[in-house]
Amino acid sequence: MNLWIFDFDGTLSDIVSDREAAVLHPACRAVLEALPGRPGNIVAVLSSREIDDLASRVPLPDVILGGASGLSWRFPGGIRLLPGDPVEKRRERHRKALAPILNRLSAYPGVEVEDKGWSVAVHYREVLPDATPMLEPLLAELAEVPGTRAYRGTYAVEVQLFRDVSKSFGVRRLCRLLKFDPPRDRVVYAGDDENDAVAMRWVLKKGGIAFCVGGRVRIRGARPVDDPAALARAVRDLSEGT
Ligand SMILES: [Mg+2]
Repeated sequence: MNLWIFDFDGTLSDIVSDREAAVLHPACRAVLEALPGRPGNIVAVLSSREIDDLASRVPLPDVILGGASGLSWRFPGGIRLLPGDPVEKRRERHRKALAPILNRLSAYPGVEVEDKGWSVAVHYREVLPDATPMLEPLLAELAEVPGTRAYRGTYAVEVQLFRDVSKSFGVRRLCRLLKFDPPRDRVVYAGDDENDAVAMRWVLKKGGIAFCVGGRVRIRGARPVDDPAALARAVRDLSEGT
C-alpha cells in the first residue's frame, strides 16, 4: 500500500501573498484525481488550514483531507473527525496566553499579525531594516509562550497554538486511523516549510519518500522539486514506476 500525503500551501498551490487567493495547481489537481484510482493508493492533503477552508480549495471526494495539522479529518464518503470540546477549550486558553505579546507585535510598525485559526502568523517583511534588531526580543518572547510552538520562516514566524500538534502529529495520526504500518506500507510526503520538515524527517526515518518543494527548507534525504508543477511530474513518474 502507498499513502500519499501532500501539504497544501506552497506544495499543491503556488505561493501567493494573500492566503485567501491560494488555489490548487491544475497539474496537481490532475495527479490528485488520478492517484486514488490506481490500486493500492490512498491520497491525503494535510494542511494547517481549517478543514472547511481546505475542503473548499480541494474539492476532490476521493482525497482524505486533514485540517488543523491533523486535528480534524474528512474521509471519502463524508465521514468526519472533529477536534471536540476539550481541544477547543485548550485552543482558547492558548489564544489568551498569546494575546499580550501579539498585541505588542501588532503595534510594531510594519508587523502584520494573521490569525489562521490553529496558528498565528506574524509577518515582518515590511519592517524597516533599522528597526529589525528591536523586533528580535519580541519574537523571542513569542517563541516562549507555554504550550505553543513557533516556527521561523522567511520574514514570518508561525506560532502553532498546540505545541504537540504539527504535520508530524498529523501524519502519525492518519497512519493510526488507516492502520497503516510503515515501513511495511510506504508513505510519501510532500511539503515546503518548517512545519512539513518534521513530518518529512519522520517519513524518511520510516523508509518513505519525501518531496521538498521550492527549496525553502533543506532536509537530508528529501527529493527537491522546484514548484507545484514539478512536484506533479515527479509524483506521476513515481506512481507510474518510471
Ligand atoms: Mg506549505
